[in-house]
Parts: sequence; C-alpha cells; structure tokens
Amino acid sequence: DPRLQGISAAIRVVPHFPKPGIMFNDITTLLLRPKVFKDAVDILVDRYRDMAISAIAGIEARGFIFGPPVALALGAKFVPLRKPKKLPGEVISENYVLEYGTDCLEMHVGAVQPEDRVLVIDDLVATGGTLCAAIKLIGSLSVEWKASVYTCGVPPIDMI
Ligand code: 5GP
Repeated sequence: DPRLQGISAAIRVVPHFPKPGIMFNDITTLLLRPKVFKDAVDILVDRYRDMAISAIAGIEARGFIFGPPVALALGAKFVPLRKPKKLPGEVISENYVLEYGTDCLEMHVGAVQPEDRVLVIDDLVATGGTLCAAIKLIGSLSVEWKASVYTCGVPPIDMI
C-alpha cells in the first residue's frame, strides 16, 4: 500500500526520549498532516469495514486519537481503556509490567457486552505489554476481540 510509506515518513523519530537509549516514535508530526492522518484512519476502516466490529477499545492516550475516527466510520461505539483512577464509574482493571515498573489499564463495567466484537486500537507496540493487558481486560469478559497496532508505518499488525 503506497500510503504506508507516507505514514512512516510522517512519524518523527526522537532519539533518547524520554530516557537515554530510547528511540521514540512521535506520531504528533503525523497529526500535523491531515492527508496522512486520514490515510492512517482509512487503512484501518477499510481493513475492518466488513467484520461487524461493534466496539473500538482505545488505549490511553494515543489510542484516543486514532480510535474515535475509526469508530465513527465503522458505526461502532468507542470504549476508553484508561490509566488508573481516571474513570468515575465501577471499573475492571488489569495490571501489567513495563520496562521499569508496572502500570494498569481500567475499563468501565458494562461498556463492553458479551455480544460485542471489539477492535483494540493503539498507536504503537513496543514490548507488547500494554496491548496484552488490553486484550486480557477485554478477554476477561468473554467477548470476541481483534487488535490492530501500527508499527512505524509497516502494515497494521492483526491479532486474532
Ligand atoms: P509496550 O507496552 O508495547 O512496551 O508500549 C506501547 C505503549 O507505550 C503504547 O501505548 C504506546 O503509545 C507507548 N509507546 C511506547 N513507545 C512509544 C514510542 O516510541 N512512540 C509512541 N508514540 N508511543 C510509544
């Protein structure tokens, strides 16, 4: 897909951020280019259009940027997976291990129903720990799920 090269080129790589030795892929430069941002959304929408996706689960924070336009285009609901203590209602939680320390994702109880087909969206997978936590959270509700993550402009990774 020729659009992928443009997506890859629009992501700025920042060395040694947020710590020495880390090559940070900064997607904010992609957001400054509406045509490329639209390409990134369109690729996901085309990919999942005929799959009866009823819910998009977006991972805080950059899953909140790419998830909602995909949800609107697919006619699906949007479910935020948030960092701890941000959601006001009853939540279920999943802890996960980071390179240094641990973190947690939370989702409102009832936001996803057993009959939902859920697509998980985030901007980038590094170790995969965050995505695995999201999948465990949603999988604990016995719903069908798919996950799609861009890795620096290579085609989206599908996990089924
Ligand atoms: P993982 O859990 O796979 O190690 O890290 C992925 C999570 O951290 C994603 O939520 C992603 O937004 C964030 N992340 C890790 N590294 C980067 C990076 O280089 N660029 C961006 N934009 N996000 C990153």
